[in-house]
Amino acid sequence: RTVVRTQQVKKIYLMGEIEVHALRGVDMEIYTGEYLSIMGPSGSGKSTFFNMVGGLDKPTEGKVYIDEVDVAQLDAYELAWLRCRKIGYIFQSFNLIPVMTALENVTLPMVFAGLTSDEARDKGMELLGKVGLGERYSHKPYELSGGQQQRVAVARALANDPAVVLADEPTGNLDLRTGTEIIELLKEMNENSGVTVISATHDHKMLSVSDRVVWIKDGQVDHVRKREELDIEV
Ligand code: ADP
Ligand code: ADP
Repeated sequence: RTVVRTQQVKKIYLMGEIEVHALRGVDMEIYTGEYLSIMGPSGSGKSTFFNMVGGLDKPTEGKVYIDEVDVAQLDAYELAWLRCRKIGYIFQSFNLIPVMTALENVTLPMVFAGLTSDEARDKGMELLGKVGLGERYSHKPYELSGGQQQRVAVARALANDPAVVLADEPTGNLDLRTGTEIIELLKEMNENSGVTVISATHDHKMLSVSDRVVWIKDGQVDHVRKREELDIEV
């Protein structure tokens, strides 16, 4: 089954007089339950692609389908629902809310989704346990290491049992060992809950856990490899 499909997605940013062609016609089909890595140099269009798939920005041309629903056809309410319930987001810079505890960060999307505060709390504690932070639930982001903050972000991304987790350079601000732990955690979540993970990276460590890797170059798909076709150096 296909969970995300893009059809000739183009994105042009206007910078005054200058057109920046960030995506030049991307066709991609992403299957339910797969772990897909998007590789490419800085500026190749990975974040832009994530913004299109995550409903955070609109393509200049082309279509994005999530579960075969054309995202452009959604009204504001449906789009908010999609972002809250169907997609989990993980960013390079963690993007936790600094005044909230780990638990509050994780429960927030569940409260938006309509769970009672007790339900959200129970599920939040369970998720923090799964990412290895059960003891740190009352800590605020500044009291946690980068790796721990990213674990909180992983728990938050999974809060509403999304169909897809979009992880944009999730290891970009972490050292090698901590980054590897985050990737292993994402892979574990992918295997245990079947959530589709789409991860942008220029980090070759990511490849070993990927079912497929898509290389993007200058806003276009350059080539795609399945795991068995990859020559992984460990
Ligand atoms: P990557 O995530 O692979 O580093 P991006 O998607 O961030 O690449 O950027 C692709 C291209 O689009 C780059 O040339 C970048 O400078 C440009 N770009 C990205 N976002 C914007 C924006 N909001 N306005 C103008 N140009 C942008
Ligand atoms: P991250 O790697 O955490 O996703 P980026 O540095 O790629 O962060 O981008 C952060 C934000 O800045 C994104 O929303 C992106 O679209 C925007 N952006 C990236 N490049 C440019 C640019 N050249 N001009 C304006 N905005 C940009």
